[in-house]
Amino acid sequence: MNGSRQQQLFEVDPEPTPWEQAAESDRLVADIVFDRPLQTVFQYLVPDGLADLISVGARIRAPFGRGNQTETGFCVGLGHHLPPGRRLKEIDLVLDDAPLLTADMLELTRWMAERYLCGWGQVLTAVVPAGVRKRAGTREITCYRAADGASSALEKKRLSTKQRVILETLCQSSAPLPVDELSKAAGCGVSPIRTLRDKGLIVPVRVRTSAVEQDTTALAEQQPDLTLNPDQLRAVEQIQGLLRASKHACVLLHGVTGSGKTEVYIQAIREVVSYGRQAIVLVPEISLTPQTIRRFRRRFPSVAVLHSHLSDAERHAQWERIAKGKVDVVVGARSAVFAPTPHLGLIVIDEEHETSFKQNSTPRYHTREVARERARREGVPLILGSATPTLESLVRATRGGDLLLSLPERVERRPMPPVVIVDTRNDPYITKGQSIGRALQAAMKRALDDGGQVILFLNLRGYSTVLWCYSCGAGVMCPECDVTLTWHRDRNRVVCHSCDFTAPRPSGCLHCGAPALKYLGAGTQRLEQEVQAKFPEHRIARMDSDAMRKRGSHDTVLNAFRNGAIDILLGTQMIAKGLDFPNVTLVGVVDADTVLHQPDLRAAERTFQLIAQVAGRTGRGPKGGRVLVQTMCPDEPVIRSAAKHDYLGFAQRELDQRRELLLPPFWSLARVILRGRAEDVVQADARRLAGLVRDAAESSGASVRIAGPAPAPLLKLKGLYRHHFRLQAEQPEEIQELWRRVSDQMRPSQGVELVIDVDPLDLR
Ligand SMILES: [Zn+2]
Ligand SMILES: [Zn+2]
Repeated sequence: MNGSRQQQLFEVDPEPTPWEQAAESDRLVADIVFDRPLQTVFQYLVPDGLADLISVGARIRAPFGRGNQTETGFCVGLGHHLPPGRRLKEIDLVLDDAPLLTADMLELTRWMAERYLCGWGQVLTAVVPAGVRKRAGTREITCYRAADGASSALEKKRLSTKQRVILETLCQSSAPLPVDELSKAAGCGVSPIRTLRDKGLIVPVRVRTSAVEQDTTALAEQQPDLTLNPDQLRAVEQIQGLLRASKHACVLLHGVTGSGKTEVYIQAIREVVSYGRQAIVLVPEISLTPQTIRRFRRRFPSVAVLHSHLSDAERHAQWERIAKGKVDVVVGARSAVFAPTPHLGLIVIDEEHETSFKQNSTPRYHTREVARERARREGVPLILGSATPTLESLVRATRGGDLLLSLPERVERRPMPPVVIVDTRNDPYITKGQSIGRALQAAMKRALDDGGQVILFLNLRGYSTVLWCYSCGAGVMCPECDVTLTWHRDRNRVVCHSCDFTAPRPSGCLHCGAPALKYLGAGTQRLEQEVQAKFPEHRIARMDSDAMRKRGSHDTVLNAFRNGAIDILLGTQMIAKGLDFPNVTLVGVVDADTVLHQPDLRAAERTFQLIAQVAGRTGRGPKGGRVLVQTMCPDEPVIRSAAKHDYLGFAQRELDQRRELLLPPFWSLARVILRGRAEDVVQADARRLAGLVRDAAESSGASVRIAGPAPAPLLKLKGLYRHHFRLQAEQPEEIQELWRRVSDQMRPSQGVELVIDVDPLDLR
C-alpha cells in the first residue's frame, strides 16, 4: 500500500503514551476504505473480540468523521504494523462472516480506483451487488448435528426407535440437518428430537440456506457444434493455441456482420470448459435477449445469466452458484465482468463497440478496459468481437500487441448487401414532411411484392421530436434540461429523453400563450403511422423502448417476424442488434443524419457503426437483400465508406483526424464536470479547480494539457448546470499522477458536485 497516501487523511489524535504504544504493538490493524471519493486507505485497530471474525474483503462498521457517527467500509488489508506515533480508533462491528470477494478481485477494484480517479470504496460498493451484500434470499434456520461421542451412545444408551433413527441419520450425515428433514426420516414429530437435544446427544446449529429455487430453467436440448468455414476455423485454431499456452493475450475478432463470430466464441469456450475452467461472455444489455441466451444454453449445459432484471435474491443465488464453480459459462451485460468465477479461462466481449459497455455513474469504467485488466491479472485470453471495432481496439490490434483475426466473408459465402445512398434533399415526399422518400417507398413495395420482409431503422422514439410555436418561434423545452420535449402520441404526453420528465401535451405555447404549435421531426411512432397509411394491407410492428415495456414483448414480436406474421418491422437500435432473419430483403435507414450532427467526438464512428450494423440485418438468406440509406449529406465521407462496407478506409481517415486533434485512441482523456443548481457558483468552481490543476501541472512539469473550463455543450441537464474542463495526456498514467497531486484540493463549493469521467464516450 502506498504509505504517503495513507498518511494524508489520518485522523490525528493526541500522541499515545509509551505504555499505550507498547500494549498496542501486537494489536491487529485493519486497512479500511469507505464509499467516498477519497483516494485514502484508513487504519483502525481491530478489538480482540473481532480479530477472529474479520477478513480481508469483508465489510465493517467503524467511526468516521466527527462526532459519534459510524460508517460502513470494506476491509482491504490486515496486519500488525501500527503506524508510529498515532492512536487509532477501533472497529465497531464486522458485517460479513466471509469475504465478499476474492483477493484477485480486490486487487482489480483497486486498479479501477486508480484508473478511473475515484475512491476504492466507491468501486467496491459498485462491484459487489446489493443482493450479495444483503445476502438476499437466504435465511438462517436451526439444524442439528450429532454431538461428539454420540455414536457410542447408540450402543450404550437406551433410546426409543425413533430417537435411534434420528441419531443414526445424523451420525451418517456429513452436514447438519434441519428439523423437518429429521422428522421425515424418522416418521415422527419434534418431541424425539427435543429429547435427544436435552440429553446432549445432538447439538443445534444455525445454518444459512438459500430460499431461492435453484436454477429452475429446464435444461435446454443440447445441439452439436456447427461446421466452420476456413476463416472461422483459422480463428478458432489460433485462439485454441493461446488457450493451450495458458497465457494472457488480447484478440480482436473483426468479422463482418453474418460472418459467424458467435460460433467462434462457442468453440473457444468449449476448449476452456474442457479444462474445467469457466468463461465469461459479455454482451450489450440490449442484446441479452432470450434468443441470445438460448443460443448458449443449447450448447452448454450450465449457463448462468446475469442481467438487470434479476431480483436481489436471484442475483445472489447466481453469484453463489458461479463462486462455487457450478457454472461453466456466465453470460451477462456490463457488470458480469465481475462474476466470481473460481477458475477463469476466457473472457469474450461481443459487439465490443457498443456504448453500453461504459458505465455512466461512478465508477465510470469501461467494461473492455476492466476485462483486459482482469484477463491480464488472471493470465487468460480476452476476445473482443465486432463488425465495426472501436478505433481504440483497432489501433491496439494493428500497432499494439493485440492479435487481429479477421472473418472477411459471410458464412456460406453470401455477399454483403449492396447499399444505396438516397439523397433526400429534393425528394417530393420528404419535402412534404414525410419520413419515407420516393425511392425507399418504391423499394419497399417491390420487396413486399416479392414476398420479402422489410426492416426500417430510425434512431428517434416518440411521435414528434420538436414542438415549435408559430408565433414566437420558441421550442417546447424540458424545464430541467436544454433539450426539446418529444410528443409521445400513444400516451399523449411530452417526454424528455434526457431526464424522463413528462407532462400532458401543452395545448399552446408555454412562452407566449399562442394556441397553435407546429409538430416537427418524426420519431418511430409517427413513422409507424406513415407506414400504415402507405402499406395498409401489410402487417407492421414497432420495436422501441416504449413499445417493449412489457417483459417478453421483445420475444413475441421477433417470433412473429420470424414466422412471417409481420411484414415490416420498424424501430430504434433495438432492431440493429444481431437479428438474423433470412427473409429480410430490404433494410431502410430512414435518417442517417440523426447521429452525424451531434456535438460528439465519436459522431462519425457511431454513424458508421449504425449503418453497418443495420445493413447487417439483410442478405442473410438465399434471396439476398439490399439497403437504402436516406440522407441529406450524401457526400459525407463516413456515409460513403459505410455504403461501400469499407471499415478500414473509414478508420484510416478518422484516425488521422483524431491524431491531429490529440483525441483518443492516441491521447488519453479525462473530463471533469462541475454541476449544481446555481450556475454562477458552478462556473466559479470550474475556473478555480481548473486553475489549481493547471498550476499543479506547471509546477510538477507534468505533460498534461488542460482544456477549458467552459460551459458543457448540454449546459443544463436534469436541473443541474454543468461546466467542464478536460485533461489530455499521451498516457493515462500521466493523468493519474497529476490527479493524485491535486485530488485533495478538488473540493467543490456547497451544492456543487464534481464528476470525473475518464475515457469519456462523449463530451456533451
Ligand atoms: Zn410562442
Ligand atoms: Zn429533461
